[in-house]
Amino acid sequence: MNRSTNGLNHPIDLILACYPDDTAYLPTMQIIRSIRKMQQVSRRLAADGQTIGLVPTMGFLHRGHLSLIKRAQKNADCVITTIFVNPTQFAPHEDLDKYPRDEKGDIRKIREAKGDIVFIPKADEIYPDDFQTYVTVEKLTGTLEGKSRPTHFRGVTTVVAKLFNITRPDLAVFGMKDFQQACVLKQMTRDLGWPIRFIIAPTVREKDGLAMSSRNKYLSGEARKEARCLIYALRTAREMANSGVTVPKKIITEMRAVIKATCPSARIDYIALTDTTTLKPVSKVVRGTVCSLAVHVHGVRLIDNMKIA
Ligand code: AMP
Repeated sequence: MNRSTNGLNHPIDLILACYPDDTAYLPTMQIIRSIRKMQQVSRRLAADGQTIGLVPTMGFLHRGHLSLIKRAQKNADCVITTIFVNPTQFAPHEDLDKYPRDEKGDIRKIREAKGDIVFIPKADEIYPDDFQTYVTVEKLTGTLEGKSRPTHFRGVTTVVAKLFNITRPDLAVFGMKDFQQACVLKQMTRDLGWPIRFIIAPTVREKDGLAMSSRNKYLSGEARKEARCLIYALRTAREMANSGVTVPKKIITEMRAVIKATCPSARIDYIALTDTTTLKPVSKVVRGTVCSLAVHVHGVRLIDNMKIA
């Protein structure tokens, strides 16, 4: 697809001209809210030989999300960004109702990033009454986030499976920031045999190193400053690994000390050094070892992941 076309002769416009009922027209970008229309459009794109890149998000977009769109644009003719705050990946006590939302702002940002399609399905269409089919990935979901949030990944895999079926992408891009999520989805894609190329894109960070996240909105003042404890701990781990320390316990002990020193009220959920494929704890740091942590900073649960060797 030629990205320099001005919208009037854009292949997606031609396709959508056949199904105009609930599509808000924007030059060079289409907003689709119904599953049926999204299916029709993606099938038509595929029939026209256009490759599709998918970037699933929960909205309240920041530069991290936009970097995934940019990454998808490098390898796909048409990029579909989805915005869906997925209820099934939140436990009853979690922040579903207060999860930040800004649909208008998100649409503007995707348009500025030259996204092709924004798919914003409704929860009752994704999960109609009497919905009862879930996708679960087994081993990889038993550790780290899966231990702390036992029902989380079942929700993630189910919704992404549905998004894959609806949009039929050739490639999908996910963030290193949520490394375990990316691994779980990659496993699901392989196990279910979808011919989807999987890309894990680097984490985009604030100037002080805090990983961008929609949940950072909950942080202000002292909490925002002390949220740096995660990146301080990760950098400590990377420096220790680079200087030849290979004993995980030594690194984790030092990371705990750094967090305590830089955010005294922090509650550490987990810190782990794991194998990049199995996500099992390593007995020795080797090339590719991933460091993952989840920390409650002034009541806000933050996660981050980094390859440290
Ligand atoms: P979310 O909206 O939080 O569900 O995230 C949607 C996608 O964006 C996931 O693949 C995340 O891993 C990715 N993502 C979130 N934060 C960042 C970031 N700071 N840099 C790069 N990707 C990110």
